[in-house]
Amino acid sequence: MLTIRNLCKTYPNGVRALTDVSLDIPNGMFGLLGPNGAGKSTLMRTIATLQEPDSGTIRLGELDVLADKMTTRSLLGYLPQEFGVYPKVSAEAMLDHFAVLKGITHRGERRELVAALLRQVNLYDARKRKLGGFSGGMRQRFGVAQALIGNPKLIIVDEPTAGLDPEERQRFLNLLAEIGERVVVILSTHIVEDVSELCPRMAIIAEGRVRLSGEPRETIRALEGRVWRRIIDKGALHEYQERFTVLSTRLSGGATLIHVLADSLPEAGFERIAPDLEDVYFGQLHQAATARAA
Ligand code: ADP
Repeated sequence: MLTIRNLCKTYPNGVRALTDVSLDIPNGMFGLLGPNGAGKSTLMRTIATLQEPDSGTIRLGELDVLADKMTTRSLLGYLPQEFGVYPKVSAEAMLDHFAVLKGITHRGERRELVAALLRQVNLYDARKRKLGGFSGGMRQRFGVAQALIGNPKLIIVDEPTAGLDPEERQRFLNLLAEIGERVVVILSTHIVEDVSELCPRMAIIAEGRVRLSGEPRETIRALEGRVWRRIIDKGALHEYQERFTVLSTRLSGGATLIHVLADSLPEAGFERIAPDLEDVYFGQLHQAATARAA
């Protein structure tokens, strides 16, 4: 269990990236969902001991993460947003090098580990190929192999599916899901489907604050009966946004489909629908924006 309490961070330029962030993150996949600029990377880098918060505490079980960085790093697997590789080095040689850096000095042990990891992420057949020739998806899977060296107890994956095509993305998510229940895996993303397909628990973060946390199913249930759909003229969108809480807008065969949040029928022509995680997410972003405007 990772326990985050009252984390605050303001950058020297005055940007307040985290405000009083508290989260309980159990073993298993945890989705941290938020738009660009929400503070996800700041939080991920802070947990990964790559930067300091202004205040607050982080514990991994009994371990004080911010006080004992060396121990934390030995238990951590981190896949950053931009995973840089040496383009001319083969996957196998690069992974071997990372294993040396992680302190696995015995050659035979390392060879077995590297082979096992390459198999796990389905890159064994590509092991002799240079990393520069890898696709985005292969590169991300290589990043996972690298993050798994040394049996981490805490795995942090920052925006991993951005730029992947649908097939690569699915493969990548399946791989994460397999990593297991005995470790904490935090998946930071702005893609709702990454969370709804994969994460038994999640939090929504916007403008540096945790807006909501829990099980996706529970958060969806809280919106039951309050989400309405209507097809409108494109030109009328602005008017609807003035009058109602418009959660989302979608073009559908030349028409504009909107979802509206309301306790009762907004007006004739709306149809009640079963809410999904996207409605939950956009509802929270809407609330955050309203709170800021007030
Ligand atoms: P996310 O990962 O959700 O996109 P970030 O944590 O990267 O969010 O950014 C949160 C806010 O902090 C943004 O407004 C961003 O511009 C700002 N920010 C991030 N890193 C720095 C930095 N090193 N210096 C100043 N501002 C930063």
